[in-house]
Amino acid sequence: MHRSLRLAVGFLALVGACVRPTPVPGPTGHETPENAAKAEADLSHPAPAEPAALPPVAPEVVAHGARSVRTVALTFDACSTRDVSKYDERITQELIANHTPATIFLGGSWAKEEAAHVRELAKHPELFELENHTFTHPHMPAVKDDGRVRQELLRTQAEVQALTGRTPLLWRPPYGEYDARVVKLAAELGLTTIEYDLASGDPDQHATKEKLVEWVLKKVQPGSIVVMHINHRKFHTSEALPGIIQGLRTRGYQLVTVGEILRESHGLPGPTLDAGTP
Ligand SMILES: [Zn+2]
Repeated sequence: MHRSLRLAVGFLALVGACVRPTPVPGPTGHETPENAAKAEADLSHPAPAEPAALPPVAPEVVAHGARSVRTVALTFDACSTRDVSKYDERITQELIANHTPATIFLGGSWAKEEAAHVRELAKHPELFELENHTFTHPHMPAVKDDGRVRQELLRTQAEVQALTGRTPLLWRPPYGEYDARVVKLAAELGLTTIEYDLASGDPDQHATKEKLVEWVLKKVQPGSIVVMHINHRKFHTSEALPGIIQGLRTRGYQLVTVGEILRESHGLPGPTLDAGTP
């Protein structure tokens, strides 16, 4: 029901403040030709099951919520970049300990490798939204074949559904790179494109715990969507999280999921209502 409402209102307004016409430079890791080839081979494996079909949505790109509401969404990408594909459970522990909701964008290939951890994340539907970060983490505008774009998204839908029983309604383009074509293709599959307006900078090797906390608290605005990573144990993300969370709350921010941001900015039910218990 609410999906069709979102579609209708999306056509009417697209909520100007939420739509960014140009991508934000992505702060994510790098790919090697070997990694790309391995990932491509993975993508050709049969999916665990056909993913559930979703009704189409308006081709929106959401980078932040309403600036009039003092909420912030912390988001974490789990990128299927082969050389660094790990899980940092310290982040999950901090989020749970601090009762902090988060939206986690799962690479399909990553989720497959980290199946036990994904199932663990799915045990906290009251805190964590689990969404789609493509299967092999390609530069999506460079993927010229529409069928391959769909495969990247649908294969990840299938993987997340098989592991968690949940169906992602959002996707985040790898490297923050998108164009009108991939946004439209995703929307036809029922996936809304989620960017961010605040890159934490956690991949930067000079990003110490202190710098991360200082940067996020300096740059945050009402409605911000903050991007961090949950698949790099060398990053200082988990150490910085308590300072970021407490600093935001001290400044009067409520920490919410991206689904909640969508509800606020669109005045409509957002994806968290669809999060089922696995
Ligand atoms: Zn990524």
